[in-house]
Amino acid sequence: MANNFLKKVSAQISSSIIITDDEIMAPHLTDWRGNFNGRASALLMPTDTKMVSAIMRIADEENQVIVPQGGNTGLVGGGIPDQSGDSVILSLQKMNSIIEFSRENRTITVQAGCILQHIHELVEKEGLYFPLSLAAKGSCTIGGNLATNAGGVNVLRYGTMREQCLGLQIVLSDGTIINQLTPLRKDNTGYDLKNLFIGSEGTLGIITVACLKLVSKPIARATAIAVIDKIEHALELLNILQHHSGDLVESFEVMPKALLDIVYKQFPNYSQPIKLASGFILLMEISSSKSDELENDNSGEPALQILVERCLEKALEEDLITDAVIATNEAQRQTFWAIRENAPQATKQESWPINTDISVRRDKLAEFYNHASDAIRNICKNCRICGYGHVGDGNLHFNVVEAEGGDPDWPQKRAPLLAAIYLSLSEFEGSISAEHGIGQLKTDQLKNTKDAQYYRIMTKLKNNFDPKNILNPNRIIK
Ligand SMILES: Cc1cc2nc3c(=O)[nH]c(=O)nc-3n(C[C@H](O)[C@H](O)[C@H](O)COP(=O)(O)OP(=O)(O)OC[C@H]3O[C@@H](n4cnc5c(N)ncnc54)[C@H](O)[C@@H]3O)c2cc1C
Repeated sequence: MANNFLKKVSAQISSSIIITDDEIMAPHLTDWRGNFNGRASALLMPTDTKMVSAIMRIADEENQVIVPQGGNTGLVGGGIPDQSGDSVILSLQKMNSIIEFSRENRTITVQAGCILQHIHELVEKEGLYFPLSLAAKGSCTIGGNLATNAGGVNVLRYGTMREQCLGLQIVLSDGTIINQLTPLRKDNTGYDLKNLFIGSEGTLGIITVACLKLVSKPIARATAIAVIDKIEHALELLNILQHHSGDLVESFEVMPKALLDIVYKQFPNYSQPIKLASGFILLMEISSSKSDELENDNSGEPALQILVERCLEKALEEDLITDAVIATNEAQRQTFWAIRENAPQATKQESWPINTDISVRRDKLAEFYNHASDAIRNICKNCRICGYGHVGDGNLHFNVVEAEGGDPDWPQKRAPLLAAIYLSLSEFEGSISAEHGIGQLKTDQLKNTKDAQYYRIMTKLKNNFDPKNILNPNRIIK
């Protein structure tokens, strides 16, 4: 099957886009965590939408399974082929051109393979800002961010990837090109197909080009770390910050002591901005693009820092926090963020963690945290509870790491621990995937937890857009 397909691609498009070399293909066959390993007959690297369309037309003729892939930083196995070896990976990595940048319209139109961080750098040089940000920004692509409706550390203020996108160009499973590459901010002309493709994880179509919305670049920032002894205090502090700053809070992240210990153990050269005996740290960042936020008062401190200082003082008076530190320069700010951004890498190096990506109403998050922690302790006294992440969005990577020094029963404990977390989650009516998506990892769980009629409509949509089931089959819908 793949042979005929590849022969046709070679004859009708070009042999130069086909890669079969094992060494080049290897990094495309396993995911970042090493949880998914697949095989593929080839890796295709087209350079424009027309080529993607031609590839899909041939795939449709030959019933060839295609697995779209961007930067391969996804955490649910969505871009990794299965073990059959019959799939072909379609990498968008060579589609990395900027098609249009407009300072006046505050938009940038880019091919799907552009790396997120490159977009940050490019627009920031022009005084603008693309706010989506996540630890994998140096390798994830705009197409992958759209396909997963990525979240990250700035959702609190700017929303997920869905909110950053104005228009898309998409190739369907039979090669049809849908052009909805509009740079319009308002466009009420019928059904919103764009938002159907965003978050569809490559199962409904291949995103080839996107028009993204830009905002003013923040020119003043205040970044702080505060210590709380109870998770309940996180939301109270966030509400103070949001209220007093007029919703200028970009990021509000939580990390428990157990996780910090792992980060410092795995990265011993990191300086520790604050010591804590127990509890959690909150990493918060407020930003503004108003020039007067840079102005100093008599003390010589920028206005935004003073605002954060006052909020933290209030929190100290109200016994919400026990200690706090504000970054005094960019280098210190980077130190704070390095601790947070390297948390996934640190737990990966430390052991074989249980990873989740859950969300609950943010006013129920503390209750959930305590409930799930009790459930975990009932199964495993010494394991390390490392629930961390985007607490301001009600989104936690509620992860569990085996006991310090190792636990011989860890492989047997994993399933009951995961079940206990999800049982707690169901009691709080939360989501099994806040931002990473479903991929291959959570297909059964999705089927079991989604409203049955909703799931039925999703299946119908998949069948309608991909009747031969050749586009990333067995992802999301199984
Ligand atoms: C250290 C680390 C931290 C992370 N932090 C976050 C975080 O804070 N928030 C968050 O949301 N995610 C996070 N992620 C997950 C990941 O970075 C995001 O899901 C990202 O959006 C994936 O982009 P990618 O280009 O790597 O996509 P890939 O991993 O290549 O693909 C992801 C999915 O999208 C599909 N796909 C890719 N490109 C296209 C396309 N052009 N058209 C159609 N389908 C396509 C694939 O088939 C697959 O199903 C993190 C990952 C790592 C490793």
